[in-house]
Amino acid sequence: MRLLRTRRELQHWCGTPSTRNVPLHFVPTMGALHPGHLCLIGRAGQPVTAPDGRRHQPRVLVSLFVNPLQFGPGEDFQSYPRTLEADRALAEAAGATALFVPTAEELFPGGDAGLTRVCPPPALLAGLCARHRPGHFEGVATVVCRLLGLIRPEQLWLGEKDWQQLVVLRRVVADLGLPLQVRGCPTWREADGVAGSSRNRYLSPSQRLQAAGLPRALEVGRALVAAGERSAAVVQQAVCQGLEAAALAVEYAELVVPQTLAPVTQLRAMALLAVAVRCGPSRLIDHTVLMTRLPIVAIDGPAGAGKSTVTRAFARRLGLIYLDTGAMYRAVTWWVQRQGADPADAAAVAPLLEALELRLDNGPGGEPCVTINGTDITTAIRSPDVTAQVSVVAAHACVREALTRQQQGMGERGGLVAEGRDIGTAVFPDAELKVFLTATVAERARRRALDLAERGFAVPAGAELEAQIAERDRLDSTRAVAPLLQAEDAVEVITDGMAIEAVIERLTELFRERVPEEAWPDPA
Ligand code: AMP
Repeated sequence: MRLLRTRRELQHWCGTPSTRNVPLHFVPTMGALHPGHLCLIGRAGQPVTAPDGRRHQPRVLVSLFVNPLQFGPGEDFQSYPRTLEADRALAEAAGATALFVPTAEELFPGGDAGLTRVCPPPALLAGLCARHRPGHFEGVATVVCRLLGLIRPEQLWLGEKDWQQLVVLRRVVADLGLPLQVRGCPTWREADGVAGSSRNRYLSPSQRLQAAGLPRALEVGRALVAAGERSAAVVQQAVCQGLEAAALAVEYAELVVPQTLAPVTQLRAMALLAVAVRCGPSRLIDHTVLMTRLPIVAIDGPAGAGKSTVTRAFARRLGLIYLDTGAMYRAVTWWVQRQGADPADAAAVAPLLEALELRLDNGPGGEPCVTINGTDITTAIRSPDVTAQVSVVAAHACVREALTRQQQGMGERGGLVAEGRDIGTAVFPDAELKVFLTATVAERARRRALDLAERGFAVPAGAELEAQIAERDRLDSTRAVAPLLQAEDAVEVITDGMAIEAVIERLTELFRERVPEEAWPDPA
């Protein structure tokens, strides 16, 4: 492991020809490393898949810098533990490739008085730590941007432990258009639940025992929600009582939306319960995620954008159940045809829905398996006959109502990715993540041509394919029932030029902005 002290050494190391093509992942710290930091370094060193599908072993650069800009008057800047020799050995053992240990003069050669500052958006600074530590996040954002400018990593790794910091830095990176990915790592905890923190070193043995009251109080909040409590004020009060009973002085205990940090008053789906307390000489922070159900992702978008392939792979990547609502409409169509009813006649279709037991299961490899009244119709629903009439059947209000009800029932516990029309608007309006997955008409025509050629069919001229796709879009978005519409709060992902793996990476990134890994871990 290299020890780098100056900007010159750093820039030389970052850009040496032998390493220029190896991805660089950056882990900023203030030192006094503990096992939480080591997990973060270990995660940052995991191999990554490049857009071309090849696996690369990244280099991991860890910085140690006790940043004066993020400490307020009267805070512990002077006394913050500085343990370089121990940190060197620990970082190396955790897999760091280099350690950057600048002085303040090295990092801010002109001094910090006239420095360009990075001000994160006020909406993210209205509550939690920002309210109690004015200037703190400006100091964090300023130094991290300075480091990112010098290092130019592909990934920035941060702990979920400091959730507000993670949200703020993600936003700063996005708003400044910095070309890197921000990745989070779940909180490492001691055996008694206390989150690893450099400031735990200040605690005496009895204060350390007292600190365990913090995760215990968070557990009180979780238990209340599990028992059905939905009022944020009631949860907050119970948590504060728990903290006070452990003789911890409460600075704040707040419930917020994880991604936006907006205050939550009534719990729906997911909220972050975040707490800061004083315990002896230390200020300790921690949080937990309160969930009324497991996370839900809703994916919609025009035909031919690769929704099914991507959704299925994304579900597998995150261990979520794949709910293919299109397959359900196909199954009903198959059933209607099988019964010899006219698919266009709503009065003939409605009674058929009553005698219908439609099941959608995930096979052992995550592939969907569709049955109607016990008959496996997974393959049959892809027949040209079904394809030709599915939109006629799906247009009947009685069909949409029956299937929406069934889908909502399937989503009661959550833990799924649902794909299909109306998913983010009518079926799961409070899904954690809504994605509108699309590609330009030209790109979809290109993919369609490749697909047809691969399957041995005649390929129409490019212009003709584009016209067909544009016409299908027009019909889909102007029809009276369930038109193709991007939900207001859906994130548009345009997949032109992106490999499937890259789209899944992007969806995972969006998911992680909303759902901490602590609440929904990656499957091993
Ligand atoms: P600090 O040295 O406190 O500035 O922390 C450096 C990085 O380590 C930040 O991204 C923190 O969020 C992360 N970190 C701190 N404590 C933990 C922990 N217990 N588990 C995981 N990451 C942590």
